[in-house]
Amino acid sequence: MERIKSQELFSQAKKIIPGGVNSPVRAFKAVGGNPVYIDHGQGSKIYDVDGKEYIDYVCSWGPLILGHAHPQILAALQKAMAKGTSFGAPTERETEFASMLINAVPSMEMVRLVNSGTEATMSALRLARGFTGRNKIVKFEGCYHGHVDSLLVKAGSGAATLGTPDSAGVSVALAQDTITLPYNDLKAVKELFSKHGGQIAALIVEPVAGNMGLVLPKEGFLEGLRQITAQHDSLLIFDEVITGFRVSFGGAQGFYGIKPDLTCLGKIIGGGLPVGAYGGKEEIMKHIAPLGAVYQAGTLAGNPLAVSAGIETLKILSKPGTYEVLAEKGAYLSLGLQTAARQAKIPVCAAQVGSLLGLFFTPNTVTDWGSASTSNTTLFARYFSSMLKQGVYLAPSQYESSFISTAHNYEDLDKTIATAECAFQSLGTGS
Ligand SMILES: *Cc1c(COP(=O)(O)O)cnc(C)c1O
Repeated sequence: MERIKSQELFSQAKKIIPGGVNSPVRAFKAVGGNPVYIDHGQGSKIYDVDGKEYIDYVCSWGPLILGHAHPQILAALQKAMAKGTSFGAPTERETEFASMLINAVPSMEMVRLVNSGTEATMSALRLARGFTGRNKIVKFEGCYHGHVDSLLVKAGSGAATLGTPDSAGVSVALAQDTITLPYNDLKAVKELFSKHGGQIAALIVEPVAGNMGLVLPKEGFLEGLRQITAQHDSLLIFDEVITGFRVSFGGAQGFYGIKPDLTCLGKIIGGGLPVGAYGGKEEIMKHIAPLGAVYQAGTLAGNPLAVSAGIETLKILSKPGTYEVLAEKGAYLSLGLQTAARQAKIPVCAAQVGSLLGLFFTPNTVTDWGSASTSNTTLFARYFSSMLKQGVYLAPSQYESSFISTAHNYEDLDKTIATAECAFQSLGTGS
């Protein structure tokens, strides 16, 4: 039997933690089998409790852009820890971190720190509603913005039933204030705003969609969203929880040159600790308590450990050449995987921007949730299992992206491509 210790730990966990996991994406439901229990990580690798090594392309679902157990991050944490873990009173480091975020993200004039990406999007929506005095929110099918009630509508791989929430426990009334449209469909956005623009508080979008697999914005899509929302005095919210400090140091907005009104951050900015942030124009951010009437708070918000890991991460990322090198590795791996698939005659649709990668098992061009969902998930599950067995750890779903860290070297990438060649070959013959 493989991964015996993982299996034992999973059986114990299942008795007292729902599904054995603290986030459903960690369960291997979409691919079959049991989750791998991790003992430790180092650089580009993780090691499971049975002692097996994997090249890791999950990187904690995006945060670990510097790889596991980066010595400078650990040192910063140790230094911060010695002074105490939390005060519930301001520290100088929060201002230092906030100023780093504002200097990096083009549209941010003020920023508020929270504890997760979900808190960031939830708070940004409340702020948008409070600021505009309107209730409706527009989102795109297949975009995930955390488990905020009103955003659990057509949120990625969740069930896509018209007009109803994806999750039990979300009231229909709440879901009805959320309007969903197909990603990359500017015409649908125009039509909606021409009819209901006056009721729409905000449009929230992943400027690069990373939660239905990887789907890039079509040329002109983000520009169009900027124009239309501005015309109707609705706020444009970029959910950059994945793309922030990933696609470029200035996030997707820096990469594509579009300035949203509000931006949500998370993942990378915590350096592996729980953090989120939302920020934007001063005239909007001034509506947050204690300055304004939109209430939002957090006992552990701006936590000294998280902020220290964040500061150190951004310092390292800001070094010249970081993103160029990451993008070269991203392009190299994507091309290698596509070539391997083509040689095995497995039809795939690949996407890549910087160190963010996606590979759909479909002959179609993927531009939105509709086309993404034409993927052959059975084939993906077999590919996933084969890769895992050979020591490459991918996210256990067709509808997730892969992440490369600065710790991944060309040896890792070549090994991954060779592994994929074997995996694709076995798919070609076995089906
Ligand atoms: C992960 C993610 C979130 C939610 O962040 P959590 O820290 O998991 O709450 C929100 N938006 C996007 C785009 C994400 O990828």
